Amino acid sequence: MAKIIEHLINGKMVSGAAGRVADVYNPATGEVTKQVALAPKSTVEEAIAAAEAAYPAWRDTPPTKRAQVMFKLKGLMEQNAEKICQLITDEHGKVLNDAMGELGRAIENIDFACGAPQLLKGEHSKNVGPAIDSWSEFQPLGVVAGITPFNFPAMVPAWMWPLAVVCGNTFILKPSERDPSSVMYIAELAQQAGLPAGVLNVVNGDKEAVDTLLNDPRVQAVSFVGSTPIAEYIYSTGTANGKRVQALGGAKNHAIVMPDADLDNAVNALMGAAYGSCGERCMAIPVVVAVGEDTGDALVAKLKAQLEVLKVGPGTDNSNDMGPLINKPHFEKVKGYVDLGVEEGALLVVDGRDLVVEGHENGYFLGGCLFDKVTPNMKIYQDEIFGPVLSIVRVNTQQEAMDLIDAHEYGNGTCIFTRDGEAARYFTDNIKVGMVGVNVPLPVPVAYQSFGGWKRSLFGDLFAYGPDGVRFYTRRKTITQRWPSAGVREGSQFSFPSNK
Ligand code: NAD
Repeated sequence: MAKIIEHLINGKMVSGAAGRVADVYNPATGEVTKQVALAPKSTVEEAIAAAEAAYPAWRDTPPTKRAQVMFKLKGLMEQNAEKICQLITDEHGKVLNDAMGELGRAIENIDFACGAPQLLKGEHSKNVGPAIDSWSEFQPLGVVAGITPFNFPAMVPAWMWPLAVVCGNTFILKPSERDPSSVMYIAELAQQAGLPAGVLNVVNGDKEAVDTLLNDPRVQAVSFVGSTPIAEYIYSTGTANGKRVQALGGAKNHAIVMPDADLDNAVNALMGAAYGSCGERCMAIPVVVAVGEDTGDALVAKLKAQLEVLKVGPGTDNSNDMGPLINKPHFEKVKGYVDLGVEEGALLVVDGRDLVVEGHENGYFLGGCLFDKVTPNMKIYQDEIFGPVLSIVRVNTQQEAMDLIDAHEYGNGTCIFTRDGEAARYFTDNIKVGMVGVNVPLPVPVAYQSFGGWKRSLFGDLFAYGPDGVRFYTRRKTITQRWPSAGVREGSQFSFPSNK
């Protein structure tokens, strides 16, 4: 019988014994390798109760002590990096080297969380009135929750819970039910690092678990990362219930290639950004806007040549560039978009639909696909496909390219390839997108910046992690205090207090 992945509640593994379960696959073979328990409402409520009970003592634990736990966890994650990456690759499918890149970014977020004592410092004003001092401090919210997607099973949870807990909150994580093992293991390492029971709880599950978190009044705030329809649902339901919510959604990131760009550099960068992790990244580049026909022709020729040598196969072999898609329904969906692009009249320059990986005939492998002559009215241009499908759109000017990007419903990431500083500066100043690259195809902010999109790529006011993360997981309190000198007593004042 397949192993059942359980829940971590109050420092212990809790089985969902009699409840619903979902299959977890190895996408490179198509085999069911494990099952994951899907928490019913009662199990999620147990986790919320554990987080609530752990909160008062954790809130009052000095930030340095909280940070020391993160410091130990960082060491444990580094020591066990290979095991974590193996778990990622076994369930997600990405190539081990790529998983190592993901884990590096996860650890970077733990590094940032180690700075809690500095990050939580308040602001002080002395003598705002006679013998009156005033200051702001940043207090935790209480019990907070995070809901995460399949495509970065270790990194996206690390955007949330480490920072939330060093800020003094207690946390309930609901990871993706498609690949939960790596984060379950990291949560176990966090217990070994000395995180007290109940501070981090992990409940596996689906909509039932998520809805319980959204509707329970004890949960103060929710961070979400996933697709836009669900992000919008999480934001509207959570805020209607009075919670603070940040909900990061989908994307369709465009790269502009200007006629003066270093084309070989641009093509190398685009190959990784379009096909790395099988295109299953919210910062992937699925659209290239070529400025000028000559640029378009040269780009298509160079991309086609590189696609011919793109190596696709199981993620356990580091010589592969790209692994399989996450599961069969997603494989069918992405393949369906390639069929649709042909029907819509786009020119399919490279067709990856017939790829067979020897020895892995039941894996969810799709070869890299390249469409030219894609136009904005096509569904393959408008929708997030989330697979190894790159579309080339041709325009005549930089402004036309920027107008296309601005008109698109998503505004997560974008990039321009150019040698012209003026063109680049005009782009970064004016484009309506949250994360912008200049000759950098995946401008994913480092942990000490913050991550987020504009338009329908983010619902809420604050980006994830970094300085915005600290603000999201804390509440400002401003305190005004007077200690009058002995013998000096003021009479009652009926006018509004001021220094006039
Ligand atoms: P998803 O929206 O299907 O799932 C995300 C989470 O929501 C999972 O934990 C899932 O269990 C839960 N969920 C799914 N359906 C739900 C429902 N009806 N009600 C309540 N909860 C539900 O996303 P995914 O397929 O796991 O991930 C891919 C998507 O995530 C892509 O759209 C990608 O662009 C996006 N993504 C965005 C970012 C970002 O930072 N903006 C980062 C990574 C991924």
